[in-house]
Parts: sequence; structure tokens; C-alpha cells
Amino acid sequence: MSKESANIVICGAGIAGVSAAFHLAVRNGVKGIVLVDERPPLTLTSDKSTECYRNWWPGPGDAMVAFANRSIDLLEQLARETDNAFLMNRRGYLFATAENGAALIDAARETTSLGASDLRHHIGSAAPYVPAPPHGFEDQPDGVDLFDDPDLIQQVFPYLSDTTTTVAHARRCGWLSAQQLGMTMLTQARDAGVTLLRGSLSAVDTNGGRINGVTVETDSGTTEIATPALVNAAGPFTPALARLCGLELPIALEGHVKISFSDPRHAVPRDAPLVIWNDEVALPWSAEERKALAESPETRALLEPFVAGVHGRPEGAGDTVLLYWTYEGGSSDLVLPVPYDPNYPEITIRGMSAVIPRLAEYFDQMPRPYVDGGYYAKTPENRPLVGPLPLEGAFICGAFSGFGIMTAMAGGDLLAAHIAGTPLPDYAPAFLLSRYDDRAYDALMATATASGQL
Ligand SMILES: Cc1cc2nc3c(=O)[nH]c(=O)nc-3n(C[C@H](O)[C@H](O)[C@H](O)COP(=O)(O)OP(=O)(O)OC[C@H]3O[C@@H](n4cnc5c(N)ncnc54)[C@H](O)[C@@H]3O)c2cc1C
Repeated sequence: MSKESANIVICGAGIAGVSAAFHLAVRNGVKGIVLVDERPPLTLTSDKSTECYRNWWPGPGDAMVAFANRSIDLLEQLARETDNAFLMNRRGYLFATAENGAALIDAARETTSLGASDLRHHIGSAAPYVPAPPHGFEDQPDGVDLFDDPDLIQQVFPYLSDTTTTVAHARRCGWLSAQQLGMTMLTQARDAGVTLLRGSLSAVDTNGGRINGVTVETDSGTTEIATPALVNAAGPFTPALARLCGLELPIALEGHVKISFSDPRHAVPRDAPLVIWNDEVALPWSAEERKALAESPETRALLEPFVAGVHGRPEGAGDTVLLYWTYEGGSSDLVLPVPYDPNYPEITIRGMSAVIPRLAEYFDQMPRPYVDGGYYAKTPENRPLVGPLPLEGAFICGAFSGFGIMTAMAGGDLLAAHIAGTPLPDYAPAFLLSRYDDRAYDALMATATASGQL
């Protein structure tokens, strides 16, 4: 057995743990950090995402918009410092609907009033509308461009279904390479002295009601690390790691998958933003297919309406497209790889054709998509947990649900402020575990009408 010591042990080298290490070591000069992971960095959940970011968030309160804006500020800062090593773009999120225009306009009003900047309503002509460039993020408009004239929508976004009545183009949004972002931060953190230890953190010494040390099982044996501080950044294993500290966390797991496939016909334009369809979808089938599907109880459900929210975007320089649709509750048991409905690829391509009709060109010969995914670690109100836990020396940077790539920067920055004792932002209390003891928070969240999950 080897014995070591550290000022801080971070468990988990996903995007949350890497960002915590980066903000502590690189931005705050903290020394003596050991980052422990049983897998290669960034390979459990953080390389399975659709890599998108947005400051479009619902209330109640402005904490999520402020947290997302801070994260995007920090992403832009790092992108400028590294000549955009992680290919951050600013294509935006394009929410579209044929049936729920009033709700989309309300959501756009809400997010802009909470801090996502201006709402620009384009009537008659798209003149002041600035289309998003395919690459880069500088000098772009903030806020939301709103269109509710179907003819104007067809003129500006000709690839959308001609049934579309309302479109909201949220502008401080886009995507990036999560792997490159993580590796950029990890490289800088290691250069600043962070040690990466490959192994499974199997025990925590909490004698005397505080963190004293951790045990890590490595390929070369057991390592005991004496430390006064442990950061739980274990992604879907966050609740299990908390239990090693004698703590229970209000985090549930939710399995999610996405597909990627080749789109040689460019049905999804290569310069499109992330497109989200805000309406339920009745999957398009031929009369013959409908008849066959209706015959069996196992396939009849494919004729029922599917929930709103199918979305997708072009990926990379080739002809890859990513599509994502959580049309049924994901598995809450941590089984890897994430199980999924074998019909998921076809259902998702058919579903997305409701908003991008040219995808129907593939119905006769469906592409063979690659399917992958991971688990959201999610609190009841879908907001993260960042800060101290009720055990001296224990901290969390987790519960990043479906927004960990976009908010890990603000998460690491906030965690570092808690540990380094630097001033905390106004949103800090909204992400503490102790918020659940606050009746005012309960009352505020009781007014929530949306969770922000797409
Ligand atoms: C299909 C899908 C699409 C998504 N799309 C987006 C998106 O567009 N935008 C966005 O912002 N987010 C998105 N997300 C969410 C995002 O991917 C996650 O929020 C984020 O990756 C979580 O990062 P993490 O570091 O908390 O967890 P992880 O990446 O899971 O990292 C946790 C690490 O902890 C390690 N670990 C755990 N326990 C131990 C232990 N005891 N000992 C040693 N190591 C341990 C694991 O090995 C793992 O490497 C998506 C997620 C999915 C599944």
C-alpha cells in the first residue's frame, strides 16, 4: 500500500471534475490537487453529449440564466486564450412550432426578461436579422430573434417545415467540441501541478465528522491519500460516492441516448443552427405501414403522438447529423452502456422530419445510425449542486443533468470560489444542497412551470 497526501482530492475526471481542477489550479493558483478517475478522463458521460450550450433557461428566478451566462463568458475567455481550440460556434438554438406559438413567445419573453438580453420581433421583413455564421463566436447578437409570419419564416429558414408558424432563434447559444474543451482544461491543470491518478475511489475516512483521507484502488495496488478536502464530481456515481461519506443526495439518474448518422443529401443544411421542434409529433407512415403497425399491440404505440422536443444539428466538416429525442422516460438504473429502444433511430429520424421535411428522403432506405448515450444525474428541480456538503471538507460539483458541458465552467468557477474563499456570485445559494432546507426556495420552485430540459 502506498501513502500520499493532497490538499484537495477531486473524484471524477469528467467535464465537472476537470473544470473544478482547472479553476482551482489554473485560475486560483491552488496547489496539491489530485484528480482521481477509474476511467480515462472524459469518457463516461462527458464524451456522449450533443455538446450544445445556451443561455435560454426558464425561471423561476434568474439563477439558471445567470449561471449559464457566466459559463459562456468563461468559455469565450478560454476560447480567446487558446485560439478557439475547442471550436466554439454561435449558431444558436432555433425553436420552431406549428401549434404552440403563444407558449414559445412566452418562453422567449421569460428567458430574455431573466437576463438573456433582447427580444427582437421581426415583422414584415427580416431586415435587422443577422444570420449566424457557421464558425466562430465573436461579434454576434445576444438575445432572441422572434418570427411569427410563416412566409417570412420560409424566406429566412427555407429548410423548416412549411407548417411552421413561429420561430425563436436564441443567439447566445451554439456548440463546441467537449473533448477538446476538457483536454484543454486538463492539460493546463496538469501544467499547473494537478496530479491525475487512475483508480477507483473505494473508501472515505470520515472519522471525527470530517474528511481525513480517501482510499484509491489502482492497478498497482491500494493508495491511501490523506486529505482535508474531497470534491464529489463523480457524475452518475455522485450518489454512490456521497454514501461513502455517509451522505444521501437528492439525485436521480435518467438514461438518455442520441444518434449520429451520415446525411449525404444534406437534408439538414450544413450551416443550420440546433433545430428544436416544440410540438408533439404523429410519426409519418404510409397507409400500408399504418395498417401493418395497427395489427400488433407491440407496434400500435408507433401510431400514437410522440412528445414535443425532437432536436438535431449538423456535426463537423463532413455530412454527419446528430439527432436527440427523449420521447420516453430514461432508465434510472445505472446499466452501461445505456439500454435503448431498438426503434429509437427510426423513430427519431421520422420525428425530426416533422420540422426538417427533407429527412423523409431517407424513409425508403433508413441510414444505420450510431447510438450512444449516458446518464443524467439530476435533482428534482433539474438544477445543479455546487458547494459544501454537510460534512467538514466535503464538496460537490455535480448533478449537471443535461447541461454539464455548457455549465461546467461556471460550476468549476463557483466550486473554486467556495474552496478558495473568494467572493461568491449572487446565484451561489441557488446551487447549495442547503437550498432544500429553505422554505422560500420551496415556495419559489413550487411556481416552476418548466424544468429547462429539452
Ligand atoms: C445523450 C446526452 C446528450 C447531452 N447533451 C448535452 C448538451 O448538448 N449540452 C450539455 O451541456 N450537456 C449535455 N449532456 C449532459 C452532459 O454530458 C453531462 O452533464 C456531463 O457530461 C456530466 O459530466 P460529469 O463530469 O458530471 O460526469 P461524467 O462525465 O460522468 O464524469 C464522472 C467521472 O467520475 C468517475 N468516477 C465516478 N465514481 C468514481 C470513483 N468512485 N472512483 C473513481 N472515479 C469515479 C467516472 O469514471 C467518470 O469519469 C448530455 C448528456 C447525454 C447523456
